[in-house]
Amino acid sequence: MVAWAEVALRVERWLLPAECTGCRSPVSPRDNALVCAVCRSRWRAIAPPFCAVCGEPMPLGLACRVCAEWPPDFGPVRSAVRLDPVVRRLVHRFKYQGWWRLAESFALRMAPLVAEAGDVDLVPIPLAPRRQAARGYNQAEQLAIALGALTGLPVRRDRLERRRETPTQTRLTPETRRANVAEAFGATDCHRPVILVDDVFTTGATLCSAASELLDCGAEQVGAVTFARAELPLAAQANPLR
Ligand SMILES: [Zn+2]
Ligand SMILES: [Zn+2]
Repeated sequence: MVAWAEVALRVERWLLPAECTGCRSPVSPRDNALVCAVCRSRWRAIAPPFCAVCGEPMPLGLACRVCAEWPPDFGPVRSAVRLDPVVRRLVHRFKYQGWWRLAESFALRMAPLVAEAGDVDLVPIPLAPRRQAARGYNQAEQLAIALGALTGLPVRRDRLERRRETPTQTRLTPETRRANVAEAFGATDCHRPVILVDDVFTTGATLCSAASELLDCGAEQVGAVTFARAELPLAAQANPLR
């Protein structure tokens, strides 16, 4: 298995131009990343102040409307960088164009966010089997594997399954959004804390649905980490009255 992975990596290096996925400037073949250090330094970190539970950037002292109805044992949720146009383009390539090895660069930015997590299982948000077969990989799983390699935390793909795929969430009202993800996941019984791993935090509805299922099946505490986070207006528009 390891030997095959090494062969695949060598073939891929040979096939790939030694240039940055972001700016096309040359990258050193020894630097395993697909994104150069300059491009990585342009990713804007999610900096405080943010909500202690869901990580939404907001002034201190305001009541957060993103996580107001989350289960009490869900959180904290943290995201590494803002989903600005540069990051959005990379995430799109990562997710839909087969650039799954971007996971290594993304996970470098996520690792500090789970450094204090202690003994937890990393659980990627699963895709429905049909979608995963069509795409060839699950981007959240690639992130979890890369994050596990950096942190030493175990990756547990068996703790969560996707029962059905859900249509895109961003244009739905809060009510339809909740109905949209209801019962989308099934979890296995396990009494260990979990950190969910996903590529982008948009409304939090998918993470919240997965977390509720894990908590119902005995998980002690469920947090989450994502690489990118959509800007607030998207979440605010989806939830204008609270
Ligand atoms: Zn670059
Ligand atoms: Zn919040």
